[in-house]
Amino acid sequence: MAGERPSQLVLVVDVSPVHWGRLNAAAEESLSFTRCVENVCVFLNAFMMINDGNKIAVLASHPLENRFVYPTSNVPSDGVRYELFAALDKAVVDGMKAMAQKLTLHENVIADGSPSLMAGSLAKALCYINRTTQAGGQLQSRILIVKVSPDAPAQYMATMNCIFGAQKNGIPIDACIIGPDSGFLQQASDLTGGMYLRVPEPKALLQYLMWVFLPDASIRNTLVFPSRALVDYRAACFCHRKLVEVGFVCSVCLSIFCQFNPVCLTCNSRFRVPGLGAAKGKKKNVT
Ligand SMILES: [Zn+2]
Ligand SMILES: [Zn+2]
Repeated sequence: MAGERPSQLVLVVDVSPVHWGRLNAAAEESLSFTRCVENVCVFLNAFMMINDGNKIAVLASHPLENRFVYPTSNVPSDGVRYELFAALDKAVVDGMKAMAQKLTLHENVIADGSPSLMAGSLAKALCYINRTTQAGGQLQSRILIVKVSPDAPAQYMATMNCIFGAQKNGIPIDACIIGPDSGFLQQASDLTGGMYLRVPEPKALLQYLMWVFLPDASIRNTLVFPSRALVDYRAACFCHRKLVEVGFVCSVCLSIFCQFNPVCLTCNSRFRVPGLGAAKGKKKNVT
């Protein structure tokens, strides 16, 4: 199924118990977190089986922390194939559950429903890919994010920086969305040539993982996929981290603001007030 060349997959899973709980409260027959982790394990095993040289890394992400659950120092990443699969499953299941459980101790985070640190996990994934490819591996790498929590406008800048980094290095970012649509990840997959899919039927997660996210980029153009989502290109303003459709852009540093400021808050450039001669900071559509 995959090309002859082995590839590397860095999988990020949103394990935030708050948002998994909300998902299940919203729909009667939804996907439980445990079921999601099981599906993810089956998908990872399939990915390892389609090519002997394939490599994976798994990151768990929640509102307080991002952590690699595989590979870790106490889990072998090489060895007899089926022993490896068993070790992988155990590491992923135990690691993700431990992460989710640890968060339940922080009641304040649960109460305010903070979203997971997705920008941080993207950055970690990119660093990991950079490190492994620098170590001599000629592996084509990609990132897959399984996300349930909503976008955090506060993470806009960090997320966009990661997206541009991935784009520059030719690393596609795939997004498998179980919760609300994510404008940030729509932009990420659009700019990096990845796949974006909001799973219409969360219970059937495994099917979507196998169908849409298992084939490598080289195989994808021969397959028929669900039509692409419209991309939400809204940016977050630098002053309030609020998503804006139309904003003011500094003509010097390109910072985005939701309201006119006589002095750019980022680079201190001065603008003339609109209406009193040519204003430097022009109103510009940022969509
Ligand atoms: Zn603002
Ligand atoms: Zn500026």
